[in-house]
Amino acid sequence: MAIDPQLLPIRDWIDAAKRIVVLTGAGISTDSGIPDFRGPQGVWTRNPQAEKQSTIQNYLADPQVRRAAWQGRLDHPAWSARPNSGHLAIVHLERRGKLHALITQNIDELHQIAGNSPDKVIEVHGTIRRTMCWSCGERRPMEQTLQRLHEGEQDPHCLTCGGILKSDTISFGQALVPQVIDRAMRAAAQADLMLAIGSTLQVYPVAGAVPLARESGAKLVIVNAQPTAFDDIADAVINGSIGEVLPQICGD
Ligand code: NAD
Repeated sequence: MAIDPQLLPIRDWIDAAKRIVVLTGAGISTDSGIPDFRGPQGVWTRNPQAEKQSTIQNYLADPQVRRAAWQGRLDHPAWSARPNSGHLAIVHLERRGKLHALITQNIDELHQIAGNSPDKVIEVHGTIRRTMCWSCGERRPMEQTLQRLHEGEQDPHCLTCGGILKSDTISFGQALVPQVIDRAMRAAAQADLMLAIGSTLQVYPVAGAVPLARESGAKLVIVNAQPTAFDDIADAVINGSIGEVLPQICGD
Protein backbone atom coordinates (compact mmCIF):
# COMPACT_ATOMS: atom_id res chain seq x y z
CA MET A 1 0.00 0.00 0.00
CA ALA A 2 1.27 3.51 -0.87
CA ILE A 3 1.81 5.48 2.31
CA ASP A 4 1.67 9.23 2.73
CA PRO A 5 5.27 10.04 3.83
CA GLN A 6 3.91 12.24 6.63
CA LEU A 7 2.29 9.16 8.18
CA LEU A 8 5.48 7.07 8.23
CA PRO A 9 6.61 8.13 11.75
CA ILE A 10 3.20 7.24 13.15
CA ARG A 11 3.28 3.88 11.44
CA ASP A 12 6.68 3.32 13.07
CA TRP A 13 5.24 4.16 16.51
CA ILE A 14 2.46 1.63 15.91
CA ASP A 15 4.96 -0.99 14.76
CA ALA A 16 6.93 -0.44 17.98
CA ALA A 17 3.92 -0.36 20.35
CA LYS A 18 2.84 -3.44 22.29
CA ARG A 19 -0.28 -2.27 24.16
CA ILE A 20 -2.33 -0.03 21.90
CA VAL A 21 -5.59 1.28 23.29
CA VAL A 22 -7.93 2.56 20.61
CA LEU A 23 -10.73 4.96 21.51
CA THR A 24 -13.36 5.39 18.81
CA GLY A 25 -16.25 7.80 18.35
CA ALA A 26 -18.99 8.26 15.82
CA GLY A 27 -16.53 9.44 13.12
CA ILE A 28 -15.28 5.91 12.42
CA SER A 29 -18.76 4.82 11.35
CA THR A 30 -19.71 7.71 9.04
CA ASP A 31 -18.11 5.91 6.07
CA SER A 32 -20.49 3.03 6.90
CA GLY A 33 -23.48 5.38 6.50
CA ILE A 34 -24.14 6.17 10.18
CA PRO A 35 -24.05 9.95 10.72
CA ASP A 36 -22.15 11.41 13.69
CA PHE A 37 -23.66 13.98 16.06
CA ARG A 38 -21.30 16.95 15.94
CA GLY A 39 -19.59 16.73 12.53
CA PRO A 40 -20.66 19.06 9.67
CA GLN A 41 -23.43 16.60 8.64
CA GLY A 42 -24.08 15.53 12.24
CA VAL A 43 -27.53 14.74 13.59
CA TRP A 44 -27.30 17.54 16.19
CA THR A 45 -25.57 20.02 13.87
CA ARG A 46 -28.57 19.70 11.54
CA ASN A 47 -31.24 19.48 14.26
CA PRO A 48 -30.21 20.95 17.65
CA GLN A 49 -33.63 19.87 19.10
CA ALA A 50 -32.60 16.23 18.71
CA GLU A 51 -30.03 16.59 21.52
CA LYS A 52 -32.75 17.77 23.93
CA GLN A 53 -35.06 14.93 22.99
CA SER A 54 -32.45 12.33 23.76
CA THR A 55 -32.39 12.99 27.52
CA ILE A 56 -33.60 10.15 29.72
CA GLN A 57 -35.92 12.48 31.65
CA ASN A 58 -37.84 13.45 28.50
CA TYR A 59 -37.88 9.85 27.33
CA LEU A 60 -39.41 8.53 30.57
CA ALA A 61 -41.91 11.39 30.95
CA ASP A 62 -43.27 11.75 27.45
CA PRO A 63 -44.85 8.98 25.32
CA GLN A 64 -44.49 11.23 22.25
CA VAL A 65 -40.70 11.32 22.74
CA ARG A 66 -40.67 7.51 23.11
CA ARG A 67 -42.72 7.01 19.96
CA ALA A 68 -40.32 9.25 18.01
CA ALA A 69 -37.33 7.39 19.52
CA TRP A 70 -38.77 4.00 18.53
CA GLN A 71 -39.36 5.24 15.00
CA GLY A 72 -35.72 6.38 14.94
CA ARG A 73 -34.58 2.92 16.10
CA LEU A 74 -36.71 1.23 13.46
CA ASP A 75 -35.15 3.39 10.75
CA HIS A 76 -31.62 3.37 12.23
CA PRO A 77 -28.84 3.12 9.61
CA ALA A 78 -27.01 0.56 11.81
CA TRP A 79 -29.26 -2.25 10.58
CA SER A 80 -27.88 -2.07 7.05
CA ALA A 81 -24.40 -0.69 7.84
CA ARG A 82 -21.28 -2.72 7.08
CA PRO A 83 -17.85 -2.14 8.65
CA ASN A 84 -15.52 0.06 6.57
CA SER A 85 -11.76 0.14 6.03
CA GLY A 86 -11.26 2.04 9.32
CA HIS A 87 -12.92 -0.76 11.33
CA LEU A 88 -10.94 -3.37 9.41
CA ALA A 89 -7.64 -1.62 10.15
CA ILE A 90 -8.35 -1.99 13.89
CA VAL A 91 -9.11 -5.70 13.38
CA HIS A 92 -5.68 -5.87 11.76
CA LEU A 93 -4.08 -4.31 14.87
CA GLU A 94 -5.68 -7.05 16.99
CA ARG A 95 -4.46 -9.79 14.60
CA ARG A 96 -0.95 -8.34 14.92
CA GLY A 97 -1.26 -8.85 18.71
CA LYS A 98 -1.00 -5.13 19.46
CA LEU A 99 -4.51 -4.27 20.58
CA HIS A 100 -4.79 -4.05 24.36
CA ALA A 101 -8.34 -2.69 24.36
CA LEU A 102 -10.82 -0.98 22.08
CA ILE A 103 -12.88 1.59 23.96
CA THR A 104 -15.80 2.74 21.87
CA GLN A 105 -18.44 5.39 22.35
CA ASN A 106 -20.33 3.84 19.45
CA ILE A 107 -23.47 1.84 19.89
CA ASP A 108 -23.48 0.16 16.47
CA GLU A 109 -21.32 -2.95 17.22
CA LEU A 110 -19.49 -2.49 13.91
CA HIS A 111 -16.17 -3.28 15.61
CA GLN A 112 -17.39 -6.74 16.62
CA ILE A 113 -19.04 -7.29 13.23
CA ALA A 114 -15.73 -6.32 11.56
CA GLY A 115 -13.96 -9.05 13.56
CA ASN A 116 -12.60 -7.55 16.79
CA SER A 117 -13.03 -9.93 19.73
CA PRO A 118 -15.97 -8.95 21.92
CA ASP A 119 -13.71 -9.24 24.99
CA LYS A 120 -11.44 -6.48 23.61
CA VAL A 121 -14.32 -4.07 22.99
CA ILE A 122 -15.42 -1.84 25.86
CA GLU A 123 -18.76 -0.25 24.94
CA VAL A 124 -18.96 2.73 27.28
CA HIS A 125 -22.28 3.93 25.84
CA GLY A 126 -23.91 0.53 25.36
CA THR A 127 -25.42 -0.98 22.23
CA ILE A 128 -28.46 -0.33 20.09
CA ARG A 129 -28.66 -4.05 19.32
CA ARG A 130 -30.31 -4.80 22.69
CA THR A 131 -33.26 -3.39 24.61
CA MET A 132 -33.36 -2.87 28.36
CA CYS A 133 -36.33 -2.44 30.65
CA TRP A 134 -36.07 0.69 32.77
CA SER A 135 -38.00 -1.04 35.61
CA CYS A 136 -36.73 -4.61 35.84
CA GLY A 137 -33.49 -4.30 33.84
CA GLU A 138 -34.26 -7.22 31.54
CA ARG A 139 -32.23 -7.24 28.31
CA ARG A 140 -33.42 -8.72 25.03
CA PRO A 141 -32.24 -8.64 21.41
CA MET A 142 -33.47 -5.41 19.79
CA GLU A 143 -34.92 -7.29 16.81
CA GLN A 144 -37.63 -8.83 19.02
CA THR A 145 -38.94 -5.39 19.93
CA LEU A 146 -38.56 -3.99 16.40
CA GLN A 147 -40.77 -6.86 15.28
CA ARG A 148 -43.47 -5.59 17.68
CA LEU A 149 -43.18 -2.17 16.02
CA HIS A 150 -43.63 -3.78 12.61
CA GLU A 151 -46.78 -5.38 14.01
CA GLY A 152 -48.20 -1.96 14.97
CA GLU A 153 -47.04 -1.13 18.53
CA GLN A 154 -45.69 2.43 18.84
CA ASP A 155 -44.39 2.50 22.43
CA PRO A 156 -43.69 -1.14 23.35
CA HIS A 157 -43.39 -1.95 27.06
CA CYS A 158 -41.56 -4.77 28.84
CA LEU A 159 -43.20 -8.15 28.26
CA THR A 160 -42.08 -9.31 31.71
CA CYS A 161 -43.02 -6.40 34.00
CA GLY A 162 -44.73 -3.77 31.84
CA GLY A 163 -41.96 -1.20 32.40
CA ILE A 164 -40.70 1.36 29.88
CA LEU A 165 -38.31 -0.12 27.31
CA LYS A 166 -35.38 1.65 25.70
CA SER A 167 -32.32 0.68 23.73
CA ASP A 168 -29.47 -0.55 25.95
CA THR A 169 -27.56 2.67 25.33
CA ILE A 170 -26.64 5.48 27.70
CA SER A 171 -28.99 8.43 27.16
CA PHE A 172 -28.11 11.95 28.25
CA GLY A 173 -28.85 12.26 31.95
CA GLN A 174 -28.41 8.50 32.46
CA ALA A 175 -25.56 7.18 34.60
CA LEU A 176 -22.80 5.18 32.95
CA VAL A 177 -22.16 1.63 34.12
CA PRO A 178 -19.35 2.13 36.68
CA GLN A 179 -17.68 -1.25 36.00
CA VAL A 180 -17.51 -0.50 32.28
CA ILE A 181 -16.03 2.97 32.67
CA ASP A 182 -13.59 1.67 35.31
CA ARG A 183 -12.41 -1.00 32.88
CA ALA A 184 -11.92 1.63 30.16
CA MET A 185 -9.88 3.83 32.48
CA ARG A 186 -7.73 0.92 33.68
CA ALA A 187 -7.00 -0.07 30.09
CA ALA A 188 -6.15 3.55 29.17
CA ALA A 189 -3.66 3.75 32.04
CA GLN A 190 -1.92 0.58 30.75
CA ALA A 191 -1.52 1.76 27.15
CA ASP A 192 1.84 2.45 25.55
CA LEU A 193 0.06 4.15 22.64
CA MET A 194 -3.43 5.60 22.50
CA LEU A 195 -5.13 6.08 19.16
CA ALA A 196 -8.17 8.38 19.47
CA ILE A 197 -10.28 8.15 16.33
CA GLY A 198 -13.36 9.98 15.08
CA SER A 199 -14.38 11.79 18.23
CA THR A 200 -14.49 15.41 19.28
CA LEU A 201 -13.42 14.06 22.72
CA GLN A 202 -15.97 16.23 24.49
CA VAL A 203 -18.12 13.53 26.10
CA TYR A 204 -17.07 12.77 29.70
CA PRO A 205 -16.08 10.72 31.53
CA VAL A 206 -14.76 8.67 28.60
CA ALA A 207 -12.84 11.62 27.12
CA GLY A 208 -10.82 11.58 30.35
CA ALA A 209 -9.22 8.33 29.17
CA VAL A 210 -7.15 10.38 26.72
CA PRO A 211 -5.21 12.61 29.19
CA LEU A 212 -5.03 9.61 31.56
CA ALA A 213 -3.22 7.51 28.93
CA ARG A 214 -0.92 10.44 28.11
CA GLU A 215 -0.09 11.05 31.80
CA SER A 216 0.59 7.33 32.22
CA GLY A 217 3.29 7.51 29.56
CA ALA A 218 1.48 6.54 26.36
CA LYS A 219 2.07 8.26 23.04
CA LEU A 220 -1.12 9.93 21.87
CA VAL A 221 -2.21 9.92 18.22
CA ILE A 222 -5.49 11.61 17.24
CA VAL A 223 -7.20 10.97 13.89
CA ASN A 224 -10.17 13.25 13.30
CA ALA A 225 -11.36 15.58 10.55
CA GLN A 226 -12.00 18.42 13.00
CA PRO A 227 -10.05 19.76 15.99
CA THR A 228 -10.57 17.88 19.27
CA ALA A 229 -10.34 18.88 22.91
CA PHE A 230 -6.91 17.21 23.28
CA ASP A 231 -5.00 18.20 20.14
CA ASP A 232 -2.63 20.28 22.27
CA ILE A 233 -1.40 17.27 24.29
CA ALA A 234 -1.16 14.85 21.34
CA ASP A 235 2.13 13.60 19.90
CA ALA A 236 0.47 13.66 16.47
CA VAL A 237 -2.84 14.95 15.13
CA ILE A 238 -3.98 13.73 11.72
CA ASN A 239 -6.84 15.79 10.30
CA GLY A 240 -7.63 13.33 7.51
CA SER A 241 -10.23 10.80 6.46
CA ILE A 242 -10.31 7.87 8.90
CA GLY A 243 -11.00 5.32 6.16
CA GLU A 244 -7.89 6.46 4.30
CA VAL A 245 -5.54 7.12 7.22
CA LEU A 246 -6.05 4.03 9.42
CA PRO A 247 -5.14 1.38 6.82
CA GLN A 248 -1.90 3.30 6.18
CA ILE A 249 -0.82 3.55 9.82
CA CYS A 250 -2.03 0.19 11.14
CA GLY A 251 0.35 -1.86 8.96
CA ASP A 252 0.04 -4.46 6.19
P1 NAD B 1 -19.00 13.43 17.56
O1 NAD B 1 -20.22 13.44 16.70
O2 NAD B 1 -18.90 14.37 18.69
O3 NAD B 1 -17.70 13.64 16.69
C1 NAD B 1 -17.40 12.88 15.58
C2 NAD B 1 -16.14 13.48 14.94
O4 NAD B 1 -15.74 12.62 13.88
C3 NAD B 1 -16.35 14.87 14.32
O5 NAD B 1 -15.37 15.76 14.82
C4 NAD B 1 -16.20 14.65 12.82
O6 NAD B 1 -15.59 15.72 12.16
C5 NAD B 1 -15.32 13.42 12.78
N1 NAD B 1 -15.50 12.59 11.57
C6 NAD B 1 -16.67 12.13 11.06
N2 NAD B 1 -16.45 11.34 10.00
C7 NAD B 1 -15.09 11.32 9.82
C8 NAD B 1 -14.24 10.68 8.88
N3 NAD B 1 -14.74 9.86 7.93
N4 NAD B 1 -12.90 10.89 8.96
C9 NAD B 1 -12.38 11.71 9.93
N5 NAD B 1 -13.16 12.33 10.87
C10 NAD B 1 -14.49 12.12 10.80
O7 NAD B 1 -18.83 11.94 18.03
P2 NAD B 1 -18.47 11.40 19.42
O8 NAD B 1 -17.40 12.24 20.05
O9 NAD B 1 -18.25 9.97 19.21
O10 NAD B 1 -19.77 11.66 20.33
C11 NAD B 1 -21.05 11.40 19.94
C12 NAD B 1 -21.79 10.45 20.88
O11 NAD B 1 -22.88 9.95 20.16
C13 NAD B 1 -21.00 9.25 21.29
O12 NAD B 1 -20.93 9.23 22.65
C14 NAD B 1 -21.77 8.03 20.76
O13 NAD B 1 -22.28 7.30 21.86
C15 NAD B 1 -22.94 8.55 20.05
N6 NAD B 1 -23.05 8.20 18.61
C16 NAD B 1 -22.75 6.94 18.18
C17 NAD B 1 -22.86 6.63 16.83
C18 NAD B 1 -22.51 5.24 16.37
O14 NAD B 1 -22.65 4.30 17.15
N7 NAD B 1 -22.04 5.06 15.14
C19 NAD B 1 -23.26 7.59 15.91
C20 NAD B 1 -23.58 8.89 16.40
C21 NAD B 1 -23.44 9.17 17.75
